[in-house]
Amino acid sequence: MNFLREVWDAAIYFLFPPRCPLCKEIVDERHQFCAACGKKILRVDFAEWTPEPLSQVLRVTKYRGGSRELLRKLKFDNNLNVLPPLKKILDDASTHENISRLLDGVNFAVPVPLHEKRLNERGFNQVEKIFFEWLVMRNIPLKNLVRRTKETPKLYDQGKRERQQILSGAFAATRQVDLRGQIALVVDDIYTTGTTVSECAKVLKSLGAEEVRVLAFASDFGEQFAQKNFDRSRD
Ligand SMILES: [Zn+2]
Repeated sequence: MNFLREVWDAAIYFLFPPRCPLCKEIVDERHQFCAACGKKILRVDFAEWTPEPLSQVLRVTKYRGGSRELLRKLKFDNNLNVLPPLKKILDDASTHENISRLLDGVNFAVPVPLHEKRLNERGFNQVEKIFFEWLVMRNIPLKNLVRRTKETPKLYDQGKRERQQILSGAFAATRQVDLRGQIALVVDDIYTTGTTVSECAKVLKSLGAEEVRVLAFASDFGEQFAQKNFDRSRD
């Protein structure tokens, strides 16, 4: 039986070799990025500037090229086929020392919530889809402690001040829990200016959380955003 299985696997491997999800180059394992694509998007670095009341912000990838395309397929086309490559990126980043630093002492994780209406439209919260298994493997429970109280417009074209106005008071606790002495990790798919996660963090702080850290799947750490505002100010 084992022999047949091995022959079968070898045939499948030969007929449909694993390919990089971005450039279709042949790679060793399924859902793995080729070295060149991995190098372009993987970062696993901390933001130099962290908005209050967050203490650390870590991104796994740059929101460019492949990472951006995969996240857009997940969010806008509801395409769940992109999940294995996204999870593979997370797994590959797991051994990075910055991941250990970020997770050290973390008691639980909180996904950035969608408004109920958007959740019903999409059918899932993409943040949970990306991080749930990965967090479970690390014994970090995912808790839905924050909910969106206001339906907010899409933010990608808004400036920082507009974002703050739109998001102010847009989140609340789902239930009253005592988080004193606990370290929370807010997980999000895309980190732009940090306004959304800061607002979630305020809710967790109000419940007593000692510290709130952030793990973002993708971010440009506001680099593009800063550039855009800079360009605008020169108009
Ligand atoms: Zn590639």
